[in-house]
Amino acid sequence: MRVSRLLLVTLRDDPAEADITSHKLLLRGGYIRRVASGVYAYLPLLWRVLQKISAIVRDEMDRTGALETLLPQLQPAELWQRSGRWAGYTDGEGIMFHLEDRQGRQLGLGPTHEEVITALAADLLRSYRQLPVNLYQIQSKFRDEIRPRFGLMRGREFIMKDAYSFHADQSSLQETYAVMDGAYRRIFSRCGLNAVAVEADSGAIGGSASQEFMVTAEAGEDLILTSSDGLYGANQERAVSIAPPPVPLVANQSLTLATPDQKSIEELSAAHGFDPSQIVKVLVLLARFAEGPAQPLLVSLRGDQQLNPVKLANAVGSWLSTAASPGTGALLDINPITPAQVAAQGLAPLPFGSLGPHLGDASLAGARDWQARFLRLADPTATSLERFVCGANSPDRHLVGASWDELGEQPTPLDLRAAQPGDACVHDPSQHLESSRGIEVGHIFQLGRKYSEALEATFTTEAGNQEALWMGCYGIGVSRLAQAAVEQHHDSHGICWPVSIAPFELIVVPANIDDATQRQLAEQLYTSFQAAGVDVLLDDRTERAGVKFKDADLIGIPWRIVVGRGAAEGQVELVERSSGSKRELAASELPAQLLEILLPQRRGLLAP
Ligand code: ATP
Ligand code: MG
Repeated sequence: MRVSRLLLVTLRDDPAEADITSHKLLLRGGYIRRVASGVYAYLPLLWRVLQKISAIVRDEMDRTGALETLLPQLQPAELWQRSGRWAGYTDGEGIMFHLEDRQGRQLGLGPTHEEVITALAADLLRSYRQLPVNLYQIQSKFRDEIRPRFGLMRGREFIMKDAYSFHADQSSLQETYAVMDGAYRRIFSRCGLNAVAVEADSGAIGGSASQEFMVTAEAGEDLILTSSDGLYGANQERAVSIAPPPVPLVANQSLTLATPDQKSIEELSAAHGFDPSQIVKVLVLLARFAEGPAQPLLVSLRGDQQLNPVKLANAVGSWLSTAASPGTGALLDINPITPAQVAAQGLAPLPFGSLGPHLGDASLAGARDWQARFLRLADPTATSLERFVCGANSPDRHLVGASWDELGEQPTPLDLRAAQPGDACVHDPSQHLESSRGIEVGHIFQLGRKYSEALEATFTTEAGNQEALWMGCYGIGVSRLAQAAVEQHHDSHGICWPVSIAPFELIVVPANIDDATQRQLAEQLYTSFQAAGVDVLLDDRTERAGVKFKDADLIGIPWRIVVGRGAAEGQVELVERSSGSKRELAASELPAQLLEILLPQRRGLLAP
């Protein structure tokens, strides 16, 4: 391809719309343009990158025996109603774009495809003889993200590879899960990415075991906690740890303390010399459901610990499926209760700033559309305190030396706290958690039978029984991966694509296009590299050499051949983008020498 024909529109300055380096560089290099919030045009250069990533993904998926397919993006609400996800995905903070067709039927644009594929499996898979089977597709997904940002990192329309496997039993699922784990590691490695696998929360998708693949980068939205021995790694959403021991509170009875204007843990500690670990803090939150009244929550945590909202949502989700729960419908969201909301329920004000775990249900009596009982939850770091400080449930009053026995019924301890860097590890308390930031590029799940049961996808076992299929699902953010690669591979001059996913592998730059010798030698090299199957660019523009070098650096072509004054003697310069290393070579020997370097790089970092 000739640069003059490339529609290359590069920008000299950082665009105002971009906050992180990879986003700036993709805009500046003419890879993407924003069309709407979270919606991008993939320009020809980026499309080549995406095609190369897709080719690697396909190669590795095909090697596992998975079958490529293409499912509709327009999905009937009915399927999502059957799985119980329609309300959660369309109401509240739901992320599914949805619409009504001319017949008044509800449809959604696919954010993911469990429902569609499970309905197909119900139709197509009848016998254990057909199992296991794994289907994958590469296509655009739609999610009305609450905070679309960072370009392709969190888009509202983005490209995903998603795969779904079906099995006769759990061990077959575990086998495929392990095979997919291996394929994922090869995919990221072949794309030139340094990715780590960590334990993950299964989120709204559901299921048990799940693992995320994180590209480590400062700009990552996820916090990863790992042990220095490398044996433990988890997304903070999911991570467990041992909290530091509390500072014991010496007290043998409970006294009331006047605490005017001391509403926060910090204010209370500063005024009375308490350690935050001696305090039980109480949060009042409201869980909203697709149907039925909202549920007030009373959550107790040790004062020095933070709530993990994902663990809390999971706890409320599993409570919903128990007999004790009066609620129906999916969990929509959980947010702190505000004084205004309390007033709107017709209730007396709650003692915010002096809340204690013994706040009675009487404070909810007569609520307009809330359950009139708290769901009481507490983290073990709080429930294991013998004596502690907590709010007295009356304004400007706290209790010092309170105990759970005196306060009344002790809530069931449940892991709700966020693991922190520095915490001791569960697998080996001599190890401590370290934090780093990551970009989630892939996620694999053992789904189990949640969807097959809901959508009645059964098969006949060898013994002749009807059983629900076991399922796994496996995602890769293809467009996010492209940008993550830039986040990991760039310098102050621009992008440094790994050869395996670079839009072009090589650029031939005649320093002075008006010099006939240079021009001819450049053309000749260009033609011979093309003939050798190299993705080669020829910068045939009449720009100054400096401009051309700058553009080549910005768009990140891994290898550059400069045809300059040495052309008369048949000498050219070969420059490696990532290292900047330069060498003079005879043009006649160049194609053979460069091919020897390029071919293994093209396949990616890993040997097959
Ligand atoms: P996240 O936690 O980042 O919102 P997710 O857990 O919702 O992602 P999955 O449902 O596991 O994502 O989707 C599979 C993959 O698709 C993710 O690992 C990620 O790489 C990619 N992905 C998810 N959401 C987006 C998005 N809004 N823009 C770009 N890629 C995305
Ligand atoms: Mg995920």
